[in-house]
Amino acid sequence: MFHKVLIANRGEIAVRIIRACKQLGIETVAVYSKADEDALHTQIADQAICIGKAPSKDSYLNMENIISAAINTGAEAIHPGFGFLSENAKFASLCKSCGIQFIGPSSEVIEKMGDKAMAKKLMKEAGVPLVPGSDGEVTLEEGKEILSTVGLPVLIKASAGGGGRGMRVVHHKKDFEKLFRAASNEAEAAFGNGKVYIEKFVENPKHIEVQILADKYQNVIHLGERDCTVQRRNQKVIEEAPSSLPIGMKKAMFEAAVKACKHVNYENAGTIEFIVSNDQFYFIEMNTRIQVEHPVTEMITGVDIVKEQLRIAAGKKLKYSQADIRFDGHAIEVRINAEDPKHDFRPSPGVINLLHVPQGLGIRFDSFLYTDYLIPPYYDSMVGKVIVHGYSRLDAIRKMRATLEELIIEGVPLNQSFIMMILMHDHFVKGVIDTGFIERHLEGLLRYET
Ligand code: ADP
Ligand code: ADP
Ligand code: MG
Repeated sequence: MFHKVLIANRGEIAVRIIRACKQLGIETVAVYSKADEDALHTQIADQAICIGKAPSKDSYLNMENIISAAINTGAEAIHPGFGFLSENAKFASLCKSCGIQFIGPSSEVIEKMGDKAMAKKLMKEAGVPLVPGSDGEVTLEEGKEILSTVGLPVLIKASAGGGGRGMRVVHHKKDFEKLFRAASNEAEAAFGNGKVYIEKFVENPKHIEVQILADKYQNVIHLGERDCTVQRRNQKVIEEAPSSLPIGMKKAMFEAAVKACKHVNYENAGTIEFIVSNDQFYFIEMNTRIQVEHPVTEMITGVDIVKEQLRIAAGKKLKYSQADIRFDGHAIEVRINAEDPKHDFRPSPGVINLLHVPQGLGIRFDSFLYTDYLIPPYYDSMVGKVIVHGYSRLDAIRKMRATLEELIIEGVPLNQSFIMMILMHDHFVKGVIDTGFIERHLEGLLRYET
């Protein structure tokens, strides 16, 4: 096993990874920006190195500074977390050339699967069902042709996309050119890559994804699925495991996900995302990293996915065979964001005056908040995740409501009451929702007292 690991991230995921390292007896090196001198990850790691100014491009995206910090502290491996450099093939390759183990798949695999248009080509080869659309990236002219074969509505998507950005739905042919340019420009600004591809816009789907673990010896297992259908602007808000899909469809999805990973010689933890509509499932993308919502899978399987990532990267064989994986009960995660739903969800950085965290059987709060902490304005607005585990879905929903009722985070507006409104909504409770649920019911969901 590694002696020392550097965590190239911040926020709750950095804290989560540091904890896993400590439990495995691994020394930890945190890196932090000028804005994160007092951050929890900076404080709880064995060592902490400042890597630059507050803006991400000067610190958490600064590859040279991060690699130097690893070399200077003698860290043998780097865990990238999610976001930032986690799906950056150049960074993975730079680690390798400096003799540092990148905790994730090889740079070649990241490059192939991180490019969403290229990933679709590979998945077609592997026989995984795809959303109909273009074979890879398209020019405006090619896009127009695809439009006539696929039929309206279509979705224009960024090849380098992530976090729900760089996407546009086209309902009317006359808007195609304008929306094509808008998607491409947004992708260029967000990811430095303006390439786009076209997909049929599947109306009212569910988002279901499969968690995979793969070691260096071609052993691939799945840890079941997660339902991430509750979304706002293509960003997940609530995630749960298991889903309510029929058992036959789940099995087919698990098989497709394992086959997909074997086809690209995948290594480490990864997620295959699908959308499901009319009893059909379609691959949309693969995330070659740990995901925000991994704890719901941990709750129902008892597998610590971050520890497995570390073990796999250190060259160990998978600890579990597929037959060892058992699913128990139901888990739900909600993302707590420092944002103000009543003002178009605008980010709300500021000081936390009071924090009270409820506890009890099957309750987990993954966060980096503490009393008097100042949430800086430079980064993602997610400040924590509440995860609960119950006997059944209804039991888990009730446990989550009770937990959120008791959770006190004072000082800045949060989305906590908004989430409570979703948990109380009849359609959510019955499970009769699709990815458009929040959008359609927004007005009602915002009708809470502040
Ligand atoms: P998940 O699939 O784990 O739910 P999200 O799409 O919510 O992931 O993204 C997780 C985090 O990573 C978010 O903070 C998001 O803004 C960020 N992120 C996702 N993709 C990218 C990307 N390509 N570049 C930069 N940040 C990204
Ligand atoms: P990102 O990299 O931003 O996570 P994804 O390709 O995973 O992008 O898509 C994000 C979300 O957008 C999906 O969870 C789904 O809700 C919606 N989406 C993506 N592709 C389609 C599609 N072809 N039809 C309908 N909705 C889609
Ligand atoms: Mg996605």
